[in-house]
Amino acid sequence: MVRVVVSGASGRMGREVVRAVTREKDLELVGAVDVSHIGEDCGVLAGLEPNGVLVADDLSALLEEFKPDVMVDFTAPTAVAKNVICALEAGVRPVIGTTGMPAADLERIMRLAEERRIGGLVAPNFAIGAVLMMRFAAMAAKFFPTVEIIELHHDQKIDAPSGTAVQTAEMIAAVREDFRANTGREELKLAGARGAEYRGGLRIHSVRLPGLVAHQEVLFGGQGQTLTIRHDSITRESFMPGVILAIRRVMGLDRIVYGLDKLIFE
Ligand code: NAP
Repeated sequence: MVRVVVSGASGRMGREVVRAVTREKDLELVGAVDVSHIGEDCGVLAGLEPNGVLVADDLSALLEEFKPDVMVDFTAPTAVAKNVICALEAGVRPVIGTTGMPAADLERIMRLAEERRIGGLVAPNFAIGAVLMMRFAAMAAKFFPTVEIIELHHDQKIDAPSGTAVQTAEMIAAVREDFRANTGREELKLAGARGAEYRGGLRIHSVRLPGLVAHQEVLFGGQGQTLTIRHDSITRESFMPGVILAIRRVMGLDRIVYGLDKLIFE
C-alpha cells in the first residue's frame, strides 16, 4: 500500500484527488490538509461516503503522525514550496500539481530532494493529452518558423501564463535556438495586445473565462500554411490518471523530476 496525504484537499483539484486515490486498491488516503474546511471529513467534501479523514491545518504534525509515503499538492503558488520543503524534511515524496511556483523555489526544492535522495514530481499538467500536445508542439517547432501559444483557463486561476504554457515554451525553446534569445523588440502600441513574449518572439496569450477548465492551442505559421495543435481538459478528472501514475512512480525515484513526460516517455 502507498500511503497518501493530499495537500489542498478542500480545493477543486484536491477533492478530485481524494476521489481518485479512494478508487485505487493499492493506495491509502491517510491524511488531508488545507486552510479551508478544517475538521471536515474530506470524503464528504469530495462527494463520497465519510472516510474518517478529517481536513487538518498543520501539515508537519500530520506528516509526523501518519508517516505517509507521498504528499500530493494542489494548493497555491505562494504555499506550495513551504509544503514541499516540509514533506522533504519528513522524508515524504512530493507529487506537485500546483503551478506558478517561482523559479528560485523550484530550484531550491529540487536541490533539497537530490541531497536527501527523495523522489518526486513537479507536473504543470497531468493530462496525457496535454503531455502529448507539448511533445507534438516540440516536434512541429523544428519545421515552422513562427509559433504562438494561446492558453485558456477558468477565471479563478491565480497564475498567468499557465504552467503548461511555460513548459510548452521551454520544450519548444529546447529545440529552437532562436527562441532562446531575448529580442528586446518593442513593437506594441497597446501593451499586452500581442501577449507576453516568452523569448525570441515566442508569444503566450492567456485567456481567463468562467466555464473553462484548462485548454491550450499551439499555433504554427509557415509558408502558405498553419498548423494548430489543441488540447482541452473538459473536466478535472482528465488529470487523475496522471496523478495516480505519478504517485506510484515517485516511489522508485531518488530526485524530483519536472514534467509528466519524463515518467511517460523516458
Ligand atoms: P483551489 O480550488 O483554489 O484549491 C486550492 C486549495 O488549497 C484551496 O482549498 C486553498 O484554500 C488551499 N490552500 C491555500 N493555501 C494552502 C496552504 N498553505 N496549505 C494547504 N492548503 C492551502 O485551486 P485548484 O483549482 O484546485 O488548483 C490548485 C492548483 O493546481 C493551482 O496552482 C492550479 O493551477 C493547479 N492545477 C494544476 C493542474 C495540473 O495538471 N498540474 C491541473 C489543474 C490545476 P483557500 O481557498 O482558502 O485559499
